[in-house]
Amino acid sequence: MKLNNLEDLFVEQLRDLYSAETQILDALPEMVEAASSDQLRKAFKTHLEETRQQKNRLEKIFETLGKKPGGETCEGMKGLLKEGSAMLEKEGDRNVIDAGIIASAQRVEHYEISGYGTARTYAERLGYDDAAELLDETLDEESSANEKLTKIAESTVNKKAGAQASA
Ligand code: FE
Ligand code: ZN
Ligand code: FE
Repeated sequence: MKLNNLEDLFVEQLRDLYSAETQILDALPEMVEAASSDQLRKAFKTHLEETRQQKNRLEKIFETLGKKPGGETCEGMKGLLKEGSAMLEKEGDRNVIDAGIIASAQRVEHYEISGYGTARTYAERLGYDDAAELLDETLDEESSANEKLTKIAESTVNKKAGAQASA
């Protein structure tokens, strides 16, 4: 698509985010299954539910704009999730692998935080207050999800992973 103004770029960025969320919705159930820590599984389950809402919010914004959500593939998220799924398939100590899964998941959250921050800023500049509000809600959820993962890593998973003697 041609990018002639900030509105075009806004729509392009929203489509990228929509693709990212769609990919994450596919990946999260596998992460729930692969995680050994109950806390971590629970965090992923909660975020799966939130991610469904996030995708709905984007659909609402597209509706208001009179645009279609499809047509973009978020290659960045594709790459992050490819690395993530390689981590899920690793063999070894369960706690170490959990720590690795958290490392992958936090890359995803940071990527989303960056994208939603940009989109919200464009929405504000363009005077789309409702869209800005919705994007801000999602941004808060992504930030909280990231913080929760930090907490799980620091309070339990990294400690257990660190208890493994190196060969
Ligand atoms: Fe998300
Ligand atoms: Zn992207
Ligand atoms: Fe997220």
